[in-house]
Amino acid sequence: MSVASSLEAPPPVRVSPTVVETLYQFNDSPLLTRQAQQESNARSYPRRIPLALKRARGIHVEDVEGRRFIDCLAGAGTLALGHNHPVVIAAIQQVLADELPLHTLDLTTPVKDQFVQDLFGLLPAELVKQAKIQFCGPTGTDAVEAALKLVRTATGRSTVMSFQGAYHGMSQGALSLMGSLGPKKPFEALLSSGVQFLPYPYDYRCPFGIGGEQGVKINLHYLDNLLSDPEGGVHRPAAIIVEAVQGEGGMIPADVQWLRGLRRITENAGVALIVDEIQSGFARTGKMFAFEHAGIIPDVVVMSKAIGGSLPLAVMVYRDWLDTWLPGAHAGTFRGNQMAMATGSAVMRYLKEHKVAEHASAMGERLCEQLRALQQDFPQLGDIRGRGLMLGVEIVDPSGEPDTLGHPPAFGRLASLIQRECLKRGLIIELGGRHGCVVRFLPPLIISAEQIDEVAHIFAQALPAAIAAL
Ligand code: PLP
Repeated sequence: MSVASSLEAPPPVRVSPTVVETLYQFNDSPLLTRQAQQESNARSYPRRIPLALKRARGIHVEDVEGRRFIDCLAGAGTLALGHNHPVVIAAIQQVLADELPLHTLDLTTPVKDQFVQDLFGLLPAELVKQAKIQFCGPTGTDAVEAALKLVRTATGRSTVMSFQGAYHGMSQGALSLMGSLGPKKPFEALLSSGVQFLPYPYDYRCPFGIGGEQGVKINLHYLDNLLSDPEGGVHRPAAIIVEAVQGEGGMIPADVQWLRGLRRITENAGVALIVDEIQSGFARTGKMFAFEHAGIIPDVVVMSKAIGGSLPLAVMVYRDWLDTWLPGAHAGTFRGNQMAMATGSAVMRYLKEHKVAEHASAMGERLCEQLRALQQDFPQLGDIRGRGLMLGVEIVDPSGEPDTLGHPPAFGRLASLIQRECLKRGLIIELGGRHGCVVRFLPPLIISAEQIDEVAHIFAQALPAAIAAL
């Protein structure tokens, strides 16, 4: 059975002109009005995607007014198999039918044991033979917090290095690792001051103003020198944390040679390498884990989103040399979500058995080809990049002053108009990157070739409409 064959053909998107005009008005639906009145001002997605959702299946969601949308956000990359996949529903029903305990703290159960076997069956054998797993609180941020504590305990060092553009979550430890300064500003006194930021190999906007192979070489040389210079002014860190593809930072894939160099340098310096696979993990980038593109073995891997098979779950897997915690050194009540382990296992098995990583790679390439064709006519599509189905288009202003690499400036306003025009036409996409200028595609991995073509078609129609609305 092909990955996408069990899905129904996409139904026509029913968006009437009147509805289109009102999509961005919060008073359109009483649900949206109440949400705006009652929920925190921190709410984020509803501001750009003001929909009240009622039903979902596969790559589609339907709102309370019966409008259907292709969901290329997919729970910010969580829904590897899309909404309500039959294997996920079956796993939930089985848990209920068997009257399994729904909550077990960190006590073991057959479901939990199976989950660990399934996860270890996906991770590289070299890591698994020396791996330990920690079940964390339910969100990705919880796994990042756990990793920070672990590496500090194990190495006795307190500082950590992170990368410009990084996103690792919103709690205060994780926030300390974030490249963006805005969300950190009010908390400076509470955040860890022991975080040193390093340049990420962002080829299109190379931090060294060079790009290409040379940019990668200089980046690695800089890091090597920083860690080995006895008068470099920085303490040897407990760890370096990295996303092999920066997601929120703008779908920026790290060069594979750079990742290999990073692994070599950290290993030589006795610095733990934490790879954050929270967004990129589980077949999304065309490999089960994004670090596998470089063939490296991290010391710590933090995972969440897709690992729970649509439900909240986060874990950290690490090499046993780091296993220095005393009993109870890291705890938390919600680490035993049996339902999420059952759905997570079902999804992991499906990904492996149906070779979903290969499918994601082919579908990503298909979308990229169509975006590149569009780029010929629209110089506003500055950079098309990513891996597998973790894709981004950096929107630029061709009439602006180019940077040292000759690339026009970011154009966040146009990116946001494109997002709006896509939504009007029944396509949900998200933005990210500096100035919100990167249009991000994170569709469910089971998306079919025809559905990819539909996404590209809607995007192609939205683009001139967005430019006209400038
Ligand atoms: N790390 C990465 C790479 C992420 O993309 C995210 C969320 O988008 C997180 C960590 C934080 O995960 P959560 O929002 O579940 O806390």
